Amino acid sequence: MGRFDTERKELIEILKEKGITDQNVLTAMGKIERHLFVDPMFINRAYEDNALPIGSEQTISQPYTVAFMTQALKPVKGMKVLELGTGSGYQAAVLASIGCRVFTIERHLSLLINARKMFDAQHLTIASKGGDGSIGWSEHAPYDGIIVTAGAPSIPEPLVNQLADGGRIVIPVGDRDSQQLVIGTRVKDSLLKEIVEGFKFVPLIGKNAWN
Ligand code: SAM
Repeated sequence: MGRFDTERKELIEILKEKGITDQNVLTAMGKIERHLFVDPMFINRAYEDNALPIGSEQTISQPYTVAFMTQALKPVKGMKVLELGTGSGYQAAVLASIGCRVFTIERHLSLLINARKMFDAQHLTIASKGGDGSIGWSEHAPYDGIIVTAGAPSIPEPLVNQLADGGRIVIPVGDRDSQQLVIGTRVKDSLLKEIVEGFKFVPLIGKNAWN
């Protein structure tokens, strides 16, 4: 048994009780060791269902939020996914563990450097870059899925353009204090949207987001 294995199993049970059913998501979150992605100061709280600080005034998202957003993406092996907001690297690691081909962008270079160390230590192949994700990453488009882990005032247009036909985008949209989660599916030139209320994220800052 590894350190925190029991706590991680208990967290997976909590996620199931809260309605997470996607087996790919539950298996990945049962495998990826969240305690390695949190600030060592909070290691004993890594398996609480809470967001935690990771430095640069940012957070690693609440496990339920990660599970809900990942489930909304309907991830399967081989799916090409763009993540905006690498943060600790945990969300990207969960997607990579499912077998997704992950591209992730982070605007805080110190966070990106730490996340890259984690990817290497966990032998995860994840493409990452520093910069403003609100313009997307056109070189690798189109994506089957785009997941945005920071709150935007609206859906940045370049992201919709970089989504494959039939691809899904999961993005919190609202004001700076609270957001709705928009789950969009691109159908030709339009985006079919489903809205889920009650999420709170740090702001997405960039050209097509907050200033
Ligand atoms: N996915 C992360 C994880 O698993 O730890 C959590 C990310 S945190 C809630 C949101 C992240 O989005 C922060 O690290 C923040 O710096 C980043 N961010 C905000 N605006 C951004 C932008 N325009 N491009 C890229 N990253 C951005």
